[in-house]
Amino acid sequence: MSKSLIDPFERRIEYVRVSVTDLCNYRCGYCMPEQGVHPEGHHAEYLSYEELARIIKAFVDLGVSKVRLTGGEPLVRKRLYELVEMIKPLEGLEDIALSTNAHHLEREAEKLHLAGVDRCNISIDSLRPQRFNKITRGGDLEKVLKGVDKALEVGMKPVKFNMVVMKGTNDDEIEAMVDYGIEKGVEVRFIETMPIGPAGVSMMDQHYAADKILKRVKAHVGADLIPSTDRSDAGPARNFHIAGTNARIGVISAVSQHFCESCNRVRLTARGVLALCLGQEDSVDLRTPLREGISDQELQQLIINAIAKKPERHFFNENVHNIEFRQMVQLGG
Ligand code: SAM
Ligand code: SF4
Repeated sequence: MSKSLIDPFERRIEYVRVSVTDLCNYRCGYCMPEQGVHPEGHHAEYLSYEELARIIKAFVDLGVSKVRLTGGEPLVRKRLYELVEMIKPLEGLEDIALSTNAHHLEREAEKLHLAGVDRCNISIDSLRPQRFNKITRGGDLEKVLKGVDKALEVGMKPVKFNMVVMKGTNDDEIEAMVDYGIEKGVEVRFIETMPIGPAGVSMMDQHYAADKILKRVKAHVGADLIPSTDRSDAGPARNFHIAGTNARIGVISAVSQHFCESCNRVRLTARGVLALCLGQEDSVDLRTPLREGISDQELQQLIINAIAKKPERHFFNENVHNIEFRQMVQLGG
């Protein structure tokens, strides 16, 4: 059987973002409805760690080398390190990453890193406690900052900060975030709001274009931003070195500049749906066949068939999506 997954547009799929839950202890306005998603969600609807590990193994056997655990908030799922321990030994899996709001990171970082989480992205949209609490509808900045320090202390590398920039809400903190990143030796990635799900669509009037962010950063640091030539770790981000320093920043501009031609990823939801594109409905249910007892070979074939249906690109610019299934909190970012 083939050892690499190539989609119809000659893109090699080597990265799977695995959402381990669609629940979250925060309620960021661009991601989640205030009441959360599917509060009636039954435990059995979520893939168990054994099921997740089996699907991840199938992907790795097909040539995937990078997995990111995300959510919802991945750290609200108990003993996440057990899943990491299950997948760490997979031959060919080179990189296990985590995306988190860091609320529980101080408690979990060491166990996760020991189990095999190499790197982590931490969402921080504000460095002002009250504003942070408002944006996240209940978040505790102090806990998050302690989580940041713990991730750095236990040796996760790299740690990156993700800030969704919202006009009139937190765009006045771009400079403060650059300074915080420099202070901690951490790359900051500024993200444009994306019109995904009702929550995402509702925030598009606060969209703040990446090029404006770059201008602001450049003026603040008083130095040129040198585009990074290393694309190996960039994904959808455009990365820059701040001239004369070791500091890096990045922008993720899904709307003002789409990055679909270099898309190398698919997403698995916590309920076992393989989502083929962030901005299109195309998806394949893996949970039902898995629970009906398919073999490992059949599972691999299901994945190969799914990748053959990966759409060429999203249409955020032309056609704002507002699809119930497409909530970012389910897709994992
Ligand atoms: N809870 C974790 C966190 O916040 O990092 C992981 C899941 S979260 C869905 C992953 C990323 O998606 C976060 O960096 C978040 O800021 C981003 N995100 C969520 N909804 C978004 C939207 N509508 N537009 C842009 N980014 C979004
Ligand atoms: Fe939760 Fe992350 Fe979505 Fe915020 S962005 S509501 S922390 S899943």
